[in-house]
Amino acid sequence: MFNLDLHLHSTASDGTLSPCDLVNKCAQSGLKAIALTDHDTLDGIDEAIRQAEVIGSIELIPGIEVSSNWNGIEVHILGLFTRPEDNSLSEYCRRARKNRLLRSKKIVERLQLIGLEIEFEKVTELAGNAVIGRPHIAKALVDAGYVNYPKEAFDLYLGSSHSSYYPSSTISPSKAVDLLVQSNALPVLAHPMRSKVKSGRNPISNLPGLISELKPRGLAGIEVYYGDYTDSQIKRLSLIAKENDLIECGGSDFHNSGNPGEPQPGTIGPPIETLSELKNRLK
Ligand code: AMP
Ligand code: MN
Ligand code: MN
Ligand code: MN
Repeated sequence: MFNLDLHLHSTASDGTLSPCDLVNKCAQSGLKAIALTDHDTLDGIDEAIRQAEVIGSIELIPGIEVSSNWNGIEVHILGLFTRPEDNSLSEYCRRARKNRLLRSKKIVERLQLIGLEIEFEKVTELAGNAVIGRPHIAKALVDAGYVNYPKEAFDLYLGSSHSSYYPSSTISPSKAVDLLVQSNALPVLAHPMRSKVKSGRNPISNLPGLISELKPRGLAGIEVYYGDYTDSQIKRLSLIAKENDLIECGGSDFHNSGNPGEPQPGTIGPPIETLSELKNRLK
């Protein structure tokens, strides 16, 4: 049992629990501090903070997961201790929301070309007020009976190697780190290695190269404890973190997605001492 989880999603992006329900679930699982890190949005933060205050025994760290593109490879940068009132980050989120809507439409059109009969309106309806992402398209494919669960949609149609793929982001990882540093948040490199559940993702081909690009710009941490990472992956990442003076972060990346084997909050994460390490770095 772990009591710190620094990577979680809600209905503000592609999770299926509201920020309030997510905080309740984490508190029931015995977690002491959690970060809400929705994709390219800070929309869920206020609700999550309010609920954590109601509960009293759990601390909510405001966060974000910024999507970036590194020579065609998707790289995600978490920002911890964000401020919803920060202007440049809010402006970034507004732009990302628009880009993601246009991009989702393109993906759906490409799926229609290969004979999958789903409507873009259905996908936007499923997303509601959330920042739209491929998991909403995956849900439309599940509902239409083309696949049994979202991961199958990624394996068959939505993964980055498929013809329907279109990247969500045009900003580089360096720009993402700069944006977070400027807004006084701590940038953390997310899921640097392959995971079993999210196997459709391109691995970062040159991790040392990426770290040496981001570290001088203010990269503060790297995910070591993540999702379904094995002990040997954790050991290797811990070594890389130590070599580069990066704080060893991590979390479940829980979405409540309905995929078999989805890591639950509290089943993996860094030790609670990491929280004070992060707060010291923030000063
Ligand atoms: P997007 O942000 O629209 O590019 O969608 C990426 C999201 O899709 C990730 O944050 C995960 O929630 C989900 N995802 C990515 N790859 C997979 C996979 N292989 N299986 C299941 N979900 C995935
Ligand atoms: Mn996601
Ligand atoms: Mn991610
Ligand atoms: Mn995530």
